[in-house]
Amino acid sequence: MSTTTAHKDTTTTISTENITTQVQALDIKNSHKHHHHNHHLLHKYSTSSGEEIDDHDDDDDEDDSCCPRSPVTLGPSPSVTKEHGLARLIKNNRAWSKAIRERQPDFFEKCSKGQQPKVFWIGCSDSRVPENELLQLAPGEIFTHRNIANVVVSTDLNCLSVLQYAVEVLKVEQVVVCGHYGCGGVAAALGDHSYGLIDHWLGNIKEVKAQHQDNLDLIKDQEEKCRALVEINARNSVLTVAKSPIMKAAWERGQKVEIVGLVYDIQTGLLSELGYHLTNAEDLKAQLSVDSSTLFTARATAAAVTVSARS
Ligand SMILES: [Zn+2]
Repeated sequence: MSTTTAHKDTTTTISTENITTQVQALDIKNSHKHHHHNHHLLHKYSTSSGEEIDDHDDDDDEDDSCCPRSPVTLGPSPSVTKEHGLARLIKNNRAWSKAIRERQPDFFEKCSKGQQPKVFWIGCSDSRVPENELLQLAPGEIFTHRNIANVVVSTDLNCLSVLQYAVEVLKVEQVVVCGHYGCGGVAAALGDHSYGLIDHWLGNIKEVKAQHQDNLDLIKDQEEKCRALVEINARNSVLTVAKSPIMKAAWERGQKVEIVGLVYDIQTGLLSELGYHLTNAEDLKAQLSVDSSTLFTARATAAAVTVSARS
């Protein structure tokens, strides 16, 4: 074996180890133990508890054996940083696939046999809100529909088809609508600038904005106003899902499927509940009867508490 080859082999070995080491380092098994503060606002109105979500530690070992969590999370491994474009993507993919197969050799074979996700996620297309990643879920664990600003409208056959498949075929147990602070789509809908074709889509959010204009006008800080619209837009999508014939039929036949509203903070990486857990038609009715101005009043109160806690 020549020196050159030996050197090359060594380099290859190190490179592989780097990937594996990084994968292991990033497989942050208990990172969901972060304590979140629920200081977004509509939640404080709808549920008084500031409870943390259970960690389900007892499931962790089992999870390890059946579903390796999305492993390559925080950017490319050292061996691929020099690559660009498609080459980088393919190389990342090879490393990802290898890392998963090392942990669970039959993972992809099992995947090929079908999917049984328990969660259907409706979120924003924003690249900073990757649902698999932030929930640490492996392929096969979450069914997804994403669009600009997580808008659900009753005329969107794309979204409704995914919803129907999720509920009627996959029989998911949770439909999650997740908005996020710092949403460019929502910010654009707040302004008057014209963006061309996308204005048609943003019109859906502008409609939500118009419905709550008086309350939004009371919020002077532009960022707070945007956060409020993010929350109320997510609420609107929750309600639109709940009002769909798909959910109505599912609940009528007694299917156990709930709709949950969440908001993600790209500044902290934390999800918070918006306080909407709709498990049947009665929950929807109750939610529809809520006077939206009370949501904003509660929002203002909670914001004041948050500000005083910070100072
Ligand atoms: Zn967004």
